[in-house]
Amino acid sequence: QPVVAVVGRPNVGKSTLVNRIIGRRQAVVEDIPGVTRDRVPYDAQWNGRAFTVVDTGGWEPDAKDRAAAIAAQAETAVLTADVVLFVVDAMVGSTDVDEAAVKMLRRSAKPVILVANKADNTAVEMEATSLWSLGLGEPFPVSALHGRGSGDLLDSILAALPEAPTIVEDRPRGPRRVALVGRPNVGKSSLLNRFSGEERAVVDSVAGTTVDPVDSLVDIGGQTWQLVDTAGLRKRVGKASGTEYYASLRTAGAIEAAEVAVVLLDSSEPISEQDQRILSMVTEAGRALVIAFNKWDLVDADRRYYLDKEIDRELRRIPWAIRLNLSAMTGRAVDKLAPALNKALASWEQRVPTAQLNQWLTALVQATPHPVRGGRAPRILFATQAGVAPPRFVLFTTGPLDAGYQRFVERKLREEFGYEGSPIEISVRPRK
Ligand code: GDP
Repeated sequence: QPVVAVVGRPNVGKSTLVNRIIGRRQAVVEDIPGVTRDRVPYDAQWNGRAFTVVDTGGWEPDAKDRAAAIAAQAETAVLTADVVLFVVDAMVGSTDVDEAAVKMLRRSAKPVILVANKADNTAVEMEATSLWSLGLGEPFPVSALHGRGSGDLLDSILAALPEAPTIVEDRPRGPRRVALVGRPNVGKSSLLNRFSGEERAVVDSVAGTTVDPVDSLVDIGGQTWQLVDTAGLRKRVGKASGTEYYASLRTAGAIEAAEVAVVLLDSSEPISEQDQRILSMVTEAGRALVIAFNKWDLVDADRRYYLDKEIDRELRRIPWAIRLNLSAMTGRAVDKLAPALNKALASWEQRVPTAQLNQWLTALVQATPHPVRGGRAPRILFATQAGVAPPRFVLFTTGPLDAGYQRFVERKLREEFGYEGSPIEISVRPRK
C-alpha cells in the first residue's frame, strides 16, 4: 500500500488535513506543544484506491533550531513515503523555515505536492499563487477545515502515487479450495472416502470451457469444499501409478490451485524427507496449512514419545501450522478437520488495521530495540500490511534489520495477532 507523508510547520493544519483525507473528524490530535505525534499512520481511500497517510507531526514546536527540526521531519517523510504533502499556511505565506524544508524535499526524487492550507475563501486562494516561488510547482489551495479544494487535492495525490498494482479481484463466493496432499500410502484416499462427494466437473469461470474434471465438491463438516485434483487421489486402486517426479508435480499443482492444504503424515512412520518437501511446497506457495497426523490408531505410548521428538525437530520451522491427530480408518477426529481448515483460512485472510499494527509495533521496539551494531541500530519507523492471503507486512526502517531481529518481530507479531495455520511474509524497506 503506497504511503503519503504530511510535512509542515506546527499550526499549518496538518492534523485537520489528515482528518479531511481520511474522512473523519476526531482521532487525530491537534498540535499541542510537547505532545509528540510521531509518524502516526492512518488508512485512507479515494476513488477506490487505498493508501496510508502518515502524519509526521513529531517534532517539538519549541525546538531551538526550528529549521533543523523540520528538515529532519521532512527527511523521515521522504525516506518512507511515496508521495510527500508539504503543507504551508496560505494566510501566512512561506517562511524561512518552510524554505529550509523545501531545499531538503527538492533534493529527493519523491513527488511533492504543495498544499496551501487555510484557503477558506477566494482572496486567500489568490494569495496562494505566490507560493509558486517555493519551486515545488503548482500550489493546491485547500481549506482542510471546510473541505474546499480537498477533492482536487485527493485527485492529484492519486495521480502522484506509484502505478496501481493489478487489482486483485475479490475471491468469488464459491466453495473454498482445499488440497489433500501427502506421500503415497499416508491415507489420502481413505480420508477422502470419509467425505461424501459430488462427482461433478467444476466448470471454469471462463465462458464455454470446462476444466478437466479433476476437482470435485465434497462435504467436509457440513460445508461444501472444492477438493482440487480429486482425480489424483482416486486414480488408482492398490498400486501406485506414475513416477515420483510425476506425483510431485501433481502435488505442487494441487497446492498451487488451493487456498488451504491438508498435508497428511503417517503417524506410524518417521517424518520423511518427502514429507518435508511437501510441507515446503505449501509454505513456499504461501498457502494456509493444516497438518493431519493420520493413522493415529496405530500410535501407542512408545511411538508417541518418539513422534513428539520428531515433531520438535522436523517441524521447528512451522510451529504455526495447525496439527490434528486423526484416523481415516476409525474416523477419530475427522470432524476436527473443517474447523481447522476454517481457522487456517481466517488467519490467511486476516487484516490488521494500520493504527493497531503500529500501536503494537511502537510498544515492541520501545521494549526491545534493535541491537546496536557498530555503534548504530536501525530503527523501525512504522509498518503497514501490504496484503492478505497470506498476510504480508512491510516494515519501513532506517536500515537493514538483523535476520534474528526480524524473526523476533515475526514471532511477536504472531503472538499478538494469531495467524494460526497461515504463513506470513515480512519485508523490510530500508532508507535508500
Ligand atoms: P494414499 O496413497 O495416501 O491415498 O493412501 P491410502 O488411502 O490408499 O491408504 C494407504 C494404506 O493405509 C491403506 O492400506 C489404508 O487402509 C491404510 N490407512 C489409511 N488410513 C489409515 C488409518 O487411519 N489407520 C490405519 N491403521 N490405516 C490406514
